[in-house]
Parts: sequence; structure tokens; C-alpha cells
Amino acid sequence: MDQILRRRFQLYGAVQGVGFRPFVYRLARELGLSGKVQNSALGAVVEVEGSSDVVGEFTRRLPQQKPPACVILSMEVSELPPAGYPDFSIVESSVSETKSAVVLPDLATCADCLAEIFDPEARRYGYAFTNCTNCGPRYTILESIPYDRANTTMRDFAMCADCRAEYENPLDRRFHAQPIACPRCGPQLNEEVESAARRLEAGEILAVKGIGGFQLVCDACASEPVRRLRKRKNREEKPFAVMFPGLDSVRRNCVVSEAEIAILTSPAAPILLLRPAPGIELAPEVSMGSPFVGAMLPYSPLHHRLLRCFGRPVVATSGNLSDEPIAIANEEAQQRLKGLADAFLLHNRPIARPCDDSVVRVTAQGRPMLLRRARGYAPLPVLVPQELPRVLAVGAHLKNTIAIAFGRRVFLSQHVGDLESVEAYRNFQRAIHDLSRLYEFEPEVVACDLHPDYLSTQYAEGLGLPLVRVQHHLAHVAACAAENEVKPPYLGVAWDGTGLGTDGAIWGSEFFLVTDREMRRVGHLRPFRLPGGDQAARDCRRVAVALLEHCGRNVELGLPEKDLAEIKGLLERGRTVPWTTSMGRLFDGVAALSGVALANRFEGQAPMKLEAAISRSQVSSYPVVLDRGELDWRPVVDALLRDRDCGVPAGEIAAKFHETAARWVLAMAQAVAVPSVVLSGGVFQNADLSARVVSLLEAEKFRVFLHQRVPPNDGGIALGQAVLAGASCFTGRREDVIR
Ligand code: ZN
Ligand code: ZN
Ligand code: FE
Repeated sequence: MDQILRRRFQLYGAVQGVGFRPFVYRLARELGLSGKVQNSALGAVVEVEGSSDVVGEFTRRLPQQKPPACVILSMEVSELPPAGYPDFSIVESSVSETKSAVVLPDLATCADCLAEIFDPEARRYGYAFTNCTNCGPRYTILESIPYDRANTTMRDFAMCADCRAEYENPLDRRFHAQPIACPRCGPQLNEEVESAARRLEAGEILAVKGIGGFQLVCDACASEPVRRLRKRKNREEKPFAVMFPGLDSVRRNCVVSEAEIAILTSPAAPILLLRPAPGIELAPEVSMGSPFVGAMLPYSPLHHRLLRCFGRPVVATSGNLSDEPIAIANEEAQQRLKGLADAFLLHNRPIARPCDDSVVRVTAQGRPMLLRRARGYAPLPVLVPQELPRVLAVGAHLKNTIAIAFGRRVFLSQHVGDLESVEAYRNFQRAIHDLSRLYEFEPEVVACDLHPDYLSTQYAEGLGLPLVRVQHHLAHVAACAAENEVKPPYLGVAWDGTGLGTDGAIWGSEFFLVTDREMRRVGHLRPFRLPGGDQAARDCRRVAVALLEHCGRNVELGLPEKDLAEIKGLLERGRTVPWTTSMGRLFDGVAALSGVALANRFEGQAPMKLEAAISRSQVSSYPVVLDRGELDWRPVVDALLRDRDCGVPAGEIAAKFHETAARWVLAMAQAVAVPSVVLSGGVFQNADLSARVVSLLEAEKFRVFLHQRVPPNDGGIALGQAVLAGASCFTGRREDVIR
């Protein structure tokens, strides 16, 4: 028999008062699906439950057959455990559901507006700020709620008579389109798009004021400008995102599936990680040998015009120095970016808050996985099953996001970034004040990480409010469980780089048995040493040396004699060398031992190369040894070295190691023996690993949950912190530490 699925659709847009709920009701009934439909503050929520092929049929027909007046701006789909609905019903909205504020994310230019921009007869021909109720900026122009023009950065542009007429006409596409504008009355550019395109042609680097901030833009097919941009931005190897003029250009340069095209062309229009195609036209300096191209399509009229004029793909990277937040104001940008850009393409519509481009990857199941959640997704809330008190969660240290929670909603901020510079820390504080002010939110309780050195933790400590410190990996697991509505008992798996454990060690491969009463750590990797802490995170050979020392082996890794002596000295003297159970570091060590990668020039580079090296879908693995909750990597290293000595290709070693890691999860799941398994942490950004874990576990009848709408990396930590701190308050067990 077919598997029973529950699928939830969160629809945003004009779906109320247009016959949407009766339509959904009829469609579900016709197909024999159970579930419910309900209006929400932002649109509607639909849940259907039934066999997977019928649910698939519903998913296809919902957007196709919707009532004509109904406008779906975006649709977030998630898979949930079956709820056992007896039938299909229309649920009346509760007051609290409809009262909370309507803040939509920014929406990419719609097809109608696009046609207008390139129609020489149209009033808005060539106009770079064209938008309508179906598209345009939202979150990045909003200064306060409700969403009226007077509360946006469009307030100072007085509508002309023509725009006013459209705005007031219920039959017009621009009826109550708050950012409505035209060449007569709206924002203006400082330079003609044609002349900006000629600058790109001449190899110049442009600072372009986009939707959520400035971007640095240059010709992506010419090496020289890209090299210059790398040098000026102080960015060694991390790939640059590329904006392609259209889908044809994407197809020429990247391998792209139907599911991926749907994401590229969605209103969120994120950066999507794609494999490069053989005939790639991009300069090698764009991706620096990375297995992925970060591809996106134009998402504002200005981008559409610039790309059409220029005709080739461009690098489009955040307008900042490495580690600093993206610039949003004209004067600020002209100051901060003057050494980076040769010219500025500006306009006079202010940006209310920074919002980087989001980054998405499609997993082996064909589902999107958010790696960076910002423009196009933020600030849509995550609906959680239980009522929460007013919690402010300050997130982690790297890839920071913050969250505010009240009722059954958690509002996760846009990507804030690594809290490594004064500018970044200021941006973090601004994000907290901004989200709080928008929702008139005052926290009762603050949640932070256990790590005392995180700037976010120190900020939380300074607020003088009840404080809940949440262990990093528990927060990871709780975030994934919350967005998937997984109820205890379940096995939570958190695999990442590093996070402080409750025993003072550096954790990163943790298994938790989560029940109604507790979250108990039941497993992890056999600990190993990290010689040189942060240095070890950059130089994978340091990890490899430590692993070899633990095994009593000696292998030539090409380390300079001096460094090797230093590392061995550190390991011998020992006391200052931390112990870790980090899965991310183990991947680093294996990358070095297999010869695939020796260093991380940016976070996650070596594991990414290891994943990309996989030569075929290998199903053999290295020995899986689980001893009282401890996964032993020593037999793996031994067998791997034997393979290496026999000349087994690195691609095969990489495949066997991935298979081993997946079987580790299976071994733990079988030992713990609860039906649901929740996977979180940055290591699960690895699509090959995630796919192997899912298929191994599902074959053994486990239900497996991956992140869907919130990043598996530290960008999702704030959600987990909010949920756990909220639950501890709610049950009256207000503890200082959640461990
Ligand atoms: Zn439009
Ligand atoms: Zn106008
Ligand atoms: Fe983490």
C-alpha cells in the first residue's frame, strides 16, 4: 500500500474573500483527501492527508485550478507526520491567528510587470521600479505595521494621478499596491542603465543598489574584473554568486532540474547551488574550482534591465568587505564601498533593512533546503505546535539569525551573519531592535547559547531578563523538530562543526533521545583532539595528524616539518589541546587523509569537496563499530589508509566514508529504537549524506525529518532556542540551563 502523507501548504497572498476555501474543500473532497483549510494572517493554510500519489495530484491541481481572483504570491510546502483527520473541513480562523501582523517577504518581478517594462508602448517602459500587488519589495521597504504606503520608504513619493487611479481601481493589478510608482512620480536612478552596462563591458566593478542592499557586480565571463573584485573584497576562494540574464543562460552554464527551475523562478528568487555544465562560460575565478555555481535570476526590474542590456551573466555579490554586513544607504555605501567599486548605480528609494540574497540547495529528495534564509523568505514565521511565552532568542555566533516568539509563531530574522566584526555586532543589535519594534514585542525571557564567549550570549546576559542558556546541539535538534512538528519520543541527531557541550568539551556529532520529560545525550563520536583549535578548523591536516596519532599510525601528509613537530608537541603535552566529537572536523580529517582537500579556505570547503569527489553510488562501507553510544572512527581510519595504500581512487574512498557515516546514524537509530529520527546541523547540508541516511532509515521503517524552511546550519539555532526556552517557561520549570 501507498504511504500516508500529510502535506501542509502555507499560502501567502490574496486568497481570502475570493472563494479559495470552498475551492480547496471541493478539490480535497473530490480526491478523497482528509485535512483542513483555514485563513491565516498572511493568506491561508491547507493541510491534506492521504496516499502519496493523491496528495501529489492535489499539489499539482491546487495552483492550476485556483479561482481566477485568487493570487498566490508564495507557497511554502512541508511534510508532516500524519494527524489522522477523519474528513476534510473548513476551519474558522481564531482571532489571534488573524491579528498578528502581515509582513510579506520581497517578491521577484512578476511576468505581467516584466512584460510592461519591455513594452515600448507601456507607460512604465524601461522603468526600474515597476511593481504591482503580485510583486515588488515588501519587507525591505517596511518601516512599521500596518503595511500602508505611509509606513514604507515610499512615503515621500507622492502618487501621480495615473498611479492614483490604478491604486484606487479594484479591477486593476495595482489596486492597493503600496509601492506603486511610475517614471513620473516614483524613484529614479542616478545613471542610465545603458551606460552602467557599458561600464560592465569595459570591465568595471559596479556597486548596484538592489532590493535588500548593495551588490558588487561585474562581468562573470572575464577573468580580470573577477580577480580584481576578489582582491578588493579580500575574498580568497569562496565562490561568488552569479546572476544570469535568463533561464537559457542558466542551462548553458549549469546542470538544472525541473525542481530547480521552479525554485529559481519562484517569487523568492534565491541563489541556488547548481553543478556547473561542461560548456561553462564563466571565468574560473568566479567559483575557484568549487563543485557548485551559486546561480540566480534577475529579481527586480533594475536587475532585469541591466542584465538584458549587458546580455551576459554577472557576478552579483553582497556589497561589503568580507565579514561585514551588506551596505544599504547611499552615503554609507559610497563611503564603505569606495575602494571596492569603480562606479555606483544608485536610486533614491531607501532600503529599510539589510536583507541578503537567500541561498538554497535542492536535496536528493528534490526538496529545497535553505542554507541562508533572507530575502524572499524572511520574515515569514514558523508555526509551532505549542503556545510560547514572549521569547527573544539571540542565536549562535556564526551565521547568526535572531528570533522572537509569541503565541504559536516564531519570527526568525533574515541572515545577520558571523558576529566577527564591530559592524556585524551592530547589525545584530539592529536586527533585534528592528524585529521587536515591528511587532511591538517585549520579551519576558531571553534564550542564548551555552557558550560564554559568543557575542550573542554576552548581549543576552546584559539585558537583565530571565535567561535560559540552551546547549547548541539541543537547539539544532529542537529547531528541526519544531518546523516538522515532530512529537517526542524521537532520536535527535545534531552533526556540525563545533558547539560547546555541557561537559566543557567541543561537541559536534550528538545523538539525543528526546522524550516528554528530557533530552538525553545517548551517543556521539569517540572523542579526538583538535590541535590548534581554530587553526585546525582551517588546516584539515592538523585533524588528520591527530587522528593518526590516536591510531598510532604515521602517514605523509605534506605538512612542513616545523608544523608537524608543533602539532605532535601539542598532542604530547596535551593539556591545552581540546577534545572534540565534531563530525565536521572528522569530515575535514578524512578529506585530508584521502587527499581530496587539505584546507578550508572558507567554512565547509573541504567537506564540500569530499562530497563532490564521490565517484559512484558506492554502497560498501568501512566498519561500523558502536560501543555503548560511542561511534568508533579508528577502524574507519585504518581501513581508509589500507584503501589508500592499495591505490583505491579518492572518489571511492569518499563514497565509502559517506556510506559509513550514514550507517552510523542507522546503527544509533536501531540501538535507541524510537520510530522518528530528526536530522540537524550543518553537516546535513551535504545532500549525498542526507540522501543516504534517509534511504537507509526509511528502508528500516523509521520516519526521518530534515530541515525544510529553516537552515540546518547555525542559521536555525535561534528557532530551537526559542522553542526550548519557551517550553521550559511554560511547564514552570524555568531553568537557567537547558542541557
Ligand atoms: Zn508585478
Ligand atoms: Zn505615477
Ligand atoms: Fe552548529
